[in-house]
Order: sequence, then C-alpha cells, then structure tokens
Amino acid sequence: MMIDLRSDTVTRPTPGMRAAMMAAEVGDDIWGDDPTMHRLLARMADITGKEAALFFPSGTQSNLAAVMCHCERGDEVILGQSAHTYIAEAGGVAVLGSVHSHAIENASDGTLPLEKVAAAIKPIDIHSPRTRLLALENTIGGKMLPESYVEAATALARQHGLATHLDGARLFNAAVASQRNVKDLCAPFETVSICFSKGLGAPIGTVLVGPKPLIARAHHWRKMLGGGMRQVGILAATCLYALDHHIERLADDHANAAALAEGLRRIPALKVDGPHTNIVMVDIPPEQCRALADRLRAAGILAAIRPRTRFVTHLDVTRADVDRVTSAIAGAFAP
Ligand SMILES: *Cc1c(COP(=O)(O)O)cnc(C)c1O
Repeated sequence: MMIDLRSDTVTRPTPGMRAAMMAAEVGDDIWGDDPTMHRLLARMADITGKEAALFFPSGTQSNLAAVMCHCERGDEVILGQSAHTYIAEAGGVAVLGSVHSHAIENASDGTLPLEKVAAAIKPIDIHSPRTRLLALENTIGGKMLPESYVEAATALARQHGLATHLDGARLFNAAVASQRNVKDLCAPFETVSICFSKGLGAPIGTVLVGPKPLIARAHHWRKMLGGGMRQVGILAATCLYALDHHIERLADDHANAAALAEGLRRIPALKVDGPHTNIVMVDIPPEQCRALADRLRAAGILAAIRPRTRFVTHLDVTRADVDRVTSAIAGAFAP
C-alpha cells in the first residue's frame, strides 16, 4: 500500500462506508424520490443552520452554482487570488456564469485585507461591473480564517449590499480544529459549500446550503450544468456515514499533520510552514526535488514534490505512516 500525501481527496471508502452504500434506500433524485438524499439534505441544513441544502457531484459545480445564484451576467465577485474558485475551477465563473472576478492577493493568513476589499467594491457607474458578491474560503491552504476577520469581512460586504459565499470545502476541519460549531462558522455567510470527498472520506459529493429560494435556483442551475443524478442515495449514504463516523477523527489527521511538521522541522534543508489543520507546507531546495520525489516513490510514498510542497494527512494515513514518511525524507537529506 502506498502512503499518499498528495491530497485528502485520495481516501477510499472504508468497509463501513461501503456497507452503508450497499444498504442505501434509493429513488430517482431528479424526480425528488431518493429518501436517503432527503435525509442527508435535512441533516446538513440542520448542522449548518441554513434553510435548505443541495447535493452536487463536485465542489467546483457547487461553487459555480452558488456564484450563478448570487450574480447575474456581468456582475462581479470579489475573491482571493489563492481561492480555489479563482485558480482551480477552470474559470467556470467567467465561462459559464458570465461573472467577472476581482481577485485580491490573500494575506499570509489567508484573509483578504479589508481595505483592499473595500477598494475593490465598485461604484454604481456605467464603466464598472456591478460588484455583487464576496466569496471567502475556510480553511484556505489548511489555515482557519480568524473568527473576528470573518465577522468584519461579511459585515463590510453587507454594508455595501453584497451577498456572501463561503467555500467551506474543509469547513469540518476548521470546526474540529477550533472546537467551534459548524453552525457558527456558517452563520456569517448566506451560502456555504462543504465537500464530503476530502477529509470526510466519501468518494463523491459536495453540499451547498443557504436560503430556500436561492437553493431552489441552484437546483435549476445544477440541472443545467449536468449535475442532476438519479439513484444518488448510494452517495448520500456515504455522506451520512461520514457525518456519523468521520468528523471527530479529523482531530487525528490534525495530530498527524503536527507530528509530520515536527519531524520535518528537524531537517535543516527544509523550511516548514504549519501544520495548518491537516496540511503541512514545506519549502524544498528546488535542485533536490527530483531526487526526493524518486526516493519517496521507491519507498512507497506519494507526494506532489515541488519547491513548495503540500503534504496532506487524511483517513488513510496513520501515525506509523507519518513516522515512515519522516524517516524517508530525513534519509534523503542525510549527509
Ligand atoms: C477540493 C476543493 C473544492 C472542490 O473541488 P472538486 O474537486 O470540484 O470537488 C473547492 N474548494 C476548495 C478549497 C477545495 O479544496
């Protein structure tokens, strides 16, 4: 078995999760007939404190549908230059949403400096796109946005009549790491997108939560985007299983990331940033990247080695795996 630290998306369904899939009661969800999906959506609305929820095949589609609900053609979203929606969703907001992005450089803690957000909000004027939405990400690069920042940023948005969206792909990591309620983390935002296919260990799926009328519009966009699916209770069952069994254990991933960071800090050639929840960022001398990647692969370890490498812990990485990874990397840099 390879130890795979490339991402927390690489988790495979556990035997218990597969059993839940096998046992799932299903129906045609496009006809609104899938009882397991109904249970998941009711539970997610409850957990997040929002009126309604909708399941998507990916976080990319969930974020896109949310932006399309908040913004009309020619409107503008303010977001971070490091935001997944800006750099890793194929520009769908522009291509499919006809929505203009104003990207602000993220500060090192992941926040968008408020004075820059304020300066990015355009006056109502024939020259300007209509600024309509502020989109934040929590966690971002594994970092939790400070609570006081989220309060201030969303208050600023509301003051200017902007809607607010949170890409909370790893929001449960933030909730567990900060020991805060998911409901409290969602409260400042109108809509929140939460992935089940990351650290929660489900194979597929993201849930968007928000006000009922908005989620009804998102339902229409989802159909248009090709995200309507049929006997989707098989997937909803994995998400319900994750809610029951894979939330508290995220603390293990965070502890494993901390152990990894501690081990790697002892290697003088490396510069370690973090841990941030389940992610450790490491600067590696560029000329050594190739040799390190080869060596790790030979040792049964997968990592996307580059000058700034992201190591991600998850359900399929144990403490013993972390020790093996630390020794392998230490060996590679031994004199
Ligand atoms: C993974 C991720 C998404 C969604 O990715 P998909 O692969 O489309 O499910 C969105 N935002 C962030 C921050 C992510 O990490």
